[in-house]
Amino acid sequence: MGEKKTKIVKTIKINADECNGCRACEVICSAFHATPKYSSNNPARSRIRVIRDPLKDIYIPVYAGEYAPAECMGRDKYIIDGKEYDECAFCRAACPSRDIFKEPDSGLPLKCDMCEGEDEPLCVKWCTVDALVYEEREEEVEEQEEQEELEIGLESLADKYGMEKIMETVARMSMKG
Ligand code: SF4
Ligand code: SF4
Repeated sequence: MGEKKTKIVKTIKINADECNGCRACEVICSAFHATPKYSSNNPARSRIRVIRDPLKDIYIPVYAGEYAPAECMGRDKYIIDGKEYDECAFCRAACPSRDIFKEPDSGLPLKCDMCEGEDEPLCVKWCTVDALVYEEREEEVEEQEEQEELEIGLESLADKYGMEKIMETVARMSMKG
């Protein structure tokens, strides 16, 4: 058993009914993560994407989550309040079956980092209609568990892209940053 330590759990509550599809969240996220910071904006680099289908009045913000090395064997399809959503519409994974949540130049997976270093996620600040609401809470976790999660994540990335490519990308980003 590892030592217990306190971890801050950061949550963004998504009130999809309030989202109007303005995409301000995508713009600020991609600008914040540009190198150098704020030098450009391109929604393809954003760690939040808004599923938009204005004819059906569908606007759903989805955050980039875990990297998935393989596609799912099946697909999910949701119908909510009579509106049918595309396959995998709510999935957060950077997965081989689609282009979203991948860095356009390197193809490396993107993941929301809650705007590390900022006091509040920028997509939340830029959402003027409060479709995104930030909350924090404290939880006790085993120190060892956290380390294991990190190792598993790195291992699957290295399997897919090769450690060399990952190291090159990290070196390029830190030189520019
Ligand atoms: S900024 Fe808010 S309202 Fe605009 S697309 Fe993003 S979540 Fe929706
Ligand atoms: S919390 Fe930050 S990193 Fe995550 S989607 Fe919002 S702007 Fe992007």
